[in-house]
Amino acid sequence: MTLIDGKATAATIKAEIKAEVEQIVAAGGKRPHLAAVLVGHDGGSETYVRNKVLACEACGFRSSLIRYEDTITEAELLDCVKQLNEDADVDGFIVQLPLPKHISEQKVIEAIDYRKDVDGFHPINVGRMAIGLPCYISATPKGILELLRRYNIETSGKKCVVLGRSNIVGKPMAQLMMQKQYGDATVTVCHSRSQSLREECLAADIIIAAIGRPGFLTADMVKPGAVVIDVGTTRVPDATRPKGFRLSGDVDFDNVAPLCSYITPVPGGVGPMTICMLMLNTLAAGKHEYYQ
Ligand code: NAP
Repeated sequence: MTLIDGKATAATIKAEIKAEVEQIVAAGGKRPHLAAVLVGHDGGSETYVRNKVLACEACGFRSSLIRYEDTITEAELLDCVKQLNEDADVDGFIVQLPLPKHISEQKVIEAIDYRKDVDGFHPINVGRMAIGLPCYISATPKGILELLRRYNIETSGKKCVVLGRSNIVGKPMAQLMMQKQYGDATVTVCHSRSQSLREECLAADIIIAAIGRPGFLTADMVKPGAVVIDVGTTRVPDATRPKGFRLSGDVDFDNVAPLCSYITPVPGGVGPMTICMLMLNTLAAGKHEYYQ
């Protein structure tokens, strides 16, 4: 069994990005600039945004953090998005989700200029991804593809089961694993209504679990030699930890790992790659790689 080390892979990629940025700057080019908008004080969002700012520093990017109280109106937030769309120095930006209930996330996502949508959530990027055109691909599925690629894991023609059908993980993951230029696999998507989920998993060469149910994928659901990618990151109360919780994946790691050819741990697997892919998307934005 090989443990897929997302933390080390992400560090390598960030060093590669930094080297490229320094080359761009040395040649007189512009340092990529990522802006992040954070509304309110949700603990998880605060951590994610802080880590994104730190990752920008590690990559040699400029970063801006724009903070609002959760009393901000939808109109005010849309105005902020408009300003960022028009700010020529900002190459890409994100609005950290979730947003307070009185603000439509979809409206905000659709207000972002798709050419600066480094989260890859705008329908134009989602649509272009679905038909295999150059675009920003959302960070979590992109990070998983990158892990599979860097560990030389064969996906072409394999049977891949994706657990979960969310817009940010399950759906794009399934699309990408299906496409010839990415996974080139035979893909099955399972969700909370799937009746043959266990049988599908047992037949799979690759299982990508993204449902948010700690320990859901157990050893009796995994074929010996399978590749298991665990996206789940659920906070489970744990009084022995300084923060009072630990992160738990969707896979019963201790019992599943011995069966696998490759497996990602939680934490230290998919998580670190996600922020790293946001950095790759920002580098692409700075270089106008996908759009002018
Ligand atoms: P989500 O929007 O809550 O969607 C969960 C999906 O799992 C839904 O499609 C749901 O089915 C399915 N599901 C739930 N319970 C199930 C069950 N018992 N059996 C089969 N399917 C079930 O989740 P998400 O945003 O994709 O996130 C999933 C997990 O990944 C969470 O733990 C999240 O924290 C984590 N995550 C991690 C990263 C990272 O960077 N590491 C990034 C994003 C998300 P229905 O559609 O039928 O309801």
